[in-house]
Amino acid sequence: MTQHMDSDPPASRPARGAHSADPSLPLLLRLRRNVSAWAAERASHQIETPYSGPAAQAASDIENLIGRLYPEVWHEQLGEWWETEFRQSHNPRFPVEHCGICRAIAAHAGLHIDRTQGAE
Ligand SMILES: [Zn+2]
Repeated sequence: MTQHMDSDPPASRPARGAHSADPSLPLLLRLRRNVSAWAAERASHQIETPYSGPAAQAASDIENLIGRLYPEVWHEQLGEWWETEFRQSHNPRFPVEHCGICRAIAAHAGLHIDRTQGAE
């Protein structure tokens, strides 16, 4: 979820379930999830500025595309997207297992990431 939403979601909404058979929707949702996680990792490690770096912009673009093509899904997912982004963000001084950058740093240093206490 980003703050770059360039517009409100479209006003017209398709009938509920109209998109359920569209095979591109699961692909878009998976793409959004992965790019958003990538953006959260990069922002957590100060590789890019939250909400304005290229990964955050890519996540925003995907969210906007979902909003245009599937406004009902956009409305349904919005809260969860915010929640997930909040959960994925972390202080880089306390490595987390779900972060690929933390895992790479720990592996390079020969450390183990403890699920509850960070790197050992
Ligand atoms: Zn990390």
